[in-house]
Amino acid sequence: MVFVEVSPGIFINFGKNEAPNKANGWAISNTGFIIGDESVLVIDAGPSYQYASEMIEYIKKVTNSQINYLVITHHHPDHSFGISKFLEIDTKVIISNSELKNYLKYGNKLLLQMKKKVGDDWFENTSINEFNNNKQKFPFSIDLGSRKIDINLYTDGHSGGDLTVTDKNSHIVFGGDLVFNERAPTIPHANILNWLRYLDEISNFNWSGLVPGHGPIIKKKNKLDFTKKWIQHIHYIARDAVKKGLSPAEVLELGVPEFLSSTKLAKETWNRDVPVLMKHYENDN
Ligand SMILES: [Zn+2]
Repeated sequence: MVFVEVSPGIFINFGKNEAPNKANGWAISNTGFIIGDESVLVIDAGPSYQYASEMIEYIKKVTNSQINYLVITHHHPDHSFGISKFLEIDTKVIISNSELKNYLKYGNKLLLQMKKKVGDDWFENTSINEFNNNKQKFPFSIDLGSRKIDINLYTDGHSGGDLTVTDKNSHIVFGGDLVFNERAPTIPHANILNWLRYLDEISNFNWSGLVPGHGPIIKKKNKLDFTKKWIQHIHYIARDAVKKGLSPAEVLELGVPEFLSSTKLAKETWNRDVPVLMKHYENDN
């Protein structure tokens, strides 16, 4: 775990931009924290109790401020399964209502699948825990001590309720998985038309740096174009295939469209997500 201080008091551990495997222990997404005079706010808990424990150790080395807040951008396990450790140290967990529901509903099943894929050892003490988010209303602001943070909710975009975190001092925004950089976006719980709208909104903010859920920090707005292009096109392909009555196998046989194929994890993501989207759209009909 290597945290980089991208701006004074803002640290990020960049996840491995690869598929989950036995070597990375599912630590494939970015996590970070922001230090104020009194409080630390953590963005995403990582995939396991072990990951979260290491993160907390690290934070304690760089600051005496209390780890009072943890924002979970959405329920996907690479972002949320470290929650159990933060609950132990009484950190207040901020998550949208829909994503808390999804975390509790799918958590144990996902945890079993993950253990099977990359080994039990990575997930020792990792558990899915009930906790109260007090039905938090969004947006709202938190003062960490000479440091104001805005938390925004984007309903039914990439997930049921993605949260973003904006540091008002530095104008750095943590976009969660609404934003991907240099790898294929994942869409299993997405409403793509809303998501495209949200990306335009986020793009128009006056940020100095945009931290994606996966991939390097974004400094220029045109870096968002790839995520847009990918989700627009996969949406179009899946809809069109359903309209024409094609099977997923027939669509996948055509491969990843050339203009999308050079990004990391393109093939795996395309092959997994096209059938998922087609199923959604079949059910819509
Ligand atoms: Zn993710």
